[in-house]
Amino acid sequence: MWTYYPDLLAKPVPRYTSYPTAAEFTETVASADLEAGLADLPAEEPLSLYVHIPYCREICWYCGCNTGAATREARLSAYVDRLHDEIDLFAAKLGPRGVVGRIAFGGGSPNAIAPEVFLRLVDRIKTAFRHDRPVISVELDPRGFDEKWAAALATAQVERASLGVQTFDPAIQARIGRVQPAELIERTVSLLRTASITSLNFDLMYGLPGQTGRELEASLAAALALAPDRLAVFGYAHVPQILPRQRRIDASQLPSARDRFDQAALAHRVLTGKGYQPVGFDHFATPADPLASAARNGTLRRNFQGFTDDRATCLLGLGASAISSFPDRLLQNEKNTGRWHLALGAGRFATHRGVLRTPEDRARGTIVEDILTHGAADLSPLTGRSCVRALLLDFEARGLLRWRGESIVLAEGGLPYARAIAARLDQYRGESIGRFSHAV
Ligand code: SF4
Repeated sequence: MWTYYPDLLAKPVPRYTSYPTAAEFTETVASADLEAGLADLPAEEPLSLYVHIPYCREICWYCGCNTGAATREARLSAYVDRLHDEIDLFAAKLGPRGVVGRIAFGGGSPNAIAPEVFLRLVDRIKTAFRHDRPVISVELDPRGFDEKWAAALATAQVERASLGVQTFDPAIQARIGRVQPAELIERTVSLLRTASITSLNFDLMYGLPGQTGRELEASLAAALALAPDRLAVFGYAHVPQILPRQRRIDASQLPSARDRFDQAALAHRVLTGKGYQPVGFDHFATPADPLASAARNGTLRRNFQGFTDDRATCLLGLGASAISSFPDRLLQNEKNTGRWHLALGAGRFATHRGVLRTPEDRARGTIVEDILTHGAADLSPLTGRSCVRALLLDFEARGLLRWRGESIVLAEGGLPYARAIAARLDQYRGESIGRFSHAV
């Protein structure tokens, strides 16, 4: 049972897919910082790759991703050609270092490119990098997914797929600019199940315009009927001041903060009631899924893709806006595809923004990640610890967390407050809060 404390959720907070968050990135880093990060890697360092395809068949009005409409074939093909250059550049700078264990394709919609183009990309990666039976995952838009794509996933031995579903309700789909009939989703699932997919995720949303608890329950039921291995249930973040495409969404129809909280609680209740294991604050997985195992055995991590069972500490980001992550540095590529092209065309990485993490950043980053992934964190490494208890007092007073020595442990009802609790320990929060969305 979750209790709503509006004062504790009043401030917008980051999603904490990194610490410091992307809001703290500056333009003080460059291609040389990425080269230095690669040069320092030990020979057998496990590596994960993220490949960003910033194109979609249609642009959904609510979308917060760096993506554009895939209207011109030549543009897509030039983009993929340049990705090949970026793969080669990474491989050249890595030399014999690193072994790739994961390859994630995200976007945008990776299935905006042709399936044979996707296969060539996978081949190029496998040729260029040392790898060890990498787990390949792909984000997919059911619109535009077909038999050819299913066959390509099977050929590439893609094991994991994530479908953008959001809601099954046709009226809400129309209000968010993403119309995809239930039959289309069912057909996509059926194709994926006959391909090579062993772990299938659905992204769903609450807090959508005109959405009610009853509708959310119906969408959850429709999703459960298709038996996904994982579900991520995100709160819609309405920030039209940052994402102009969201101006098409009628803000007057958005649920209240209280309704959003109740919808998040409803999703949690329904999915755990159906035997899904909660993973972090907004993911759920069947007990047999690797993500659920990671949550149970304490190896769950959080990175730019959200909650993950990936244990690699080095993630290389390829494509416009992709972020490379090392323990001591976070480096983001140019978001603008034109400038990303230019940098690679000149033979250098398109690193544009980022942060070199201080020891304090790393200590706080571990604490933030532990709170979000395990619901507990050892706060003894924090400097200025005398103030920490006072900072968290209002959560403690409501029974949302308790102290065990120098560690905090979230109560079960503290789960929806995890990000808000983490934000109290974030030394950068305060000045840039307008960039973020509801804490639930
Ligand atoms: S398909 Fe996904 S990435 Fe593309 S616009 Fe819609 S939400 Fe954004």
